Amino acid sequence: MEKDDGKYRIRINGLKEGIHFFEFSVGSDFFENFSKNEIKQANIRIDLTLNKTPQHLELELNIAGTVGVMCDKCLDDFDLMVNSHNVLFVKFSDHPQNNGNEVLFLSKDEEEINLMQNIYEFIYLSLPLRKVHPNEKNGNSSCNIEMLKKLELFSNQKRSENKTDSRWDKLKNWKNIK
Ligand SMILES: [Zn+2]
Repeated sequence: MEKDDGKYRIRINGLKEGIHFFEFSVGSDFFENFSKNEIKQANIRIDLTLNKTPQHLELELNIAGTVGVMCDKCLDDFDLMVNSHNVLFVKFSDHPQNNGNEVLFLSKDEEEINLMQNIYEFIYLSLPLRKVHPNEKNGNSSCNIEMLKKLELFSNQKRSENKTDSRWDKLKNWKNIK
């Protein structure tokens, strides 16, 4: 079960109809609440616009900032920019229908909504499938070159493990002597 510090709860009971603005921040500790945890650090700001009508709430979340993740290519950690716009509908009904994830059903006498899980999912959904160091202005990769060389050596080594590679044997012997 996740811990819940209440930081991402909005009190809806007594909230006037119309537009309301909220601001949240998401730091590194946020992701410690979840078991799937690829994100090692975070510095994110969330601007929420909430529109309340008698039947529903419409929430627009603008997520912007950086998350620290591991590069899929060189395995170093780096700061990845995140920027996403998300909409969430909340309907008041005591008989929720299961018609997709974009609509959250709340009982009519619910006093507050907790956005923690939604924020977590929105951040994860905004991440690219392949997370790689961005290129520098001159177009060069900003990956850890030394690490890439080591990884290449390692994958060559694995590939030739079952083959007799005399060069590799020589290298191993040389290492043993040394
Ligand atoms: Zn990299």
